Amino acid sequence: MNMLDAEAIQIRRFRASLPELQHVRRFVGDLVTNHPSADDAVLAASELAANAIEHSDSGAFTVQMAHLQDAVRIEVRDAGGSGLPRPGPNGPDATRGRGLFIVESISRHWGVARDAAHTSVWCEIDCAHAPAVHEYLAA
Ligand SMILES: [Zn+2]
Repeated sequence: MNMLDAEAIQIRRFRASLPELQHVRRFVGDLVTNHPSADDAVLAASELAANAIEHSDSGAFTVQMAHLQDAVRIEVRDAGGSGLPRPGPNGPDATRGRGLFIVESISRHWGVARDAAHTSVWCEIDCAHAPAVHEYLAA
């Protein structure tokens, strides 16, 4: 399965335990095989997933991957927890902050969406390839 030549959106659910991070990395890595932004996508997904595991009250979370016109979009959604995630190496939520600091540094946008039941943290990583690749893929 590869996002470059299969469906543009993939989603998978994971248990909220640290050993699951290797499965998150494999899931994302398989989807972006041969994509020039693959390393950043895997890193961002791993950081967002680690945050979901460590800081939410979830027993599970989902990772959604989408290949946009000119970016890879990653969204990690969990059942929420106390405090909105925000970037920065210090502060009361320091571990989550460090992860988001990394995400912020490698993505063009990131954000948080929250409702009563869920927290979603997403980011978009620029596609480091020519738009023609997407035209080819869409054909
Ligand atoms: Zn791309």
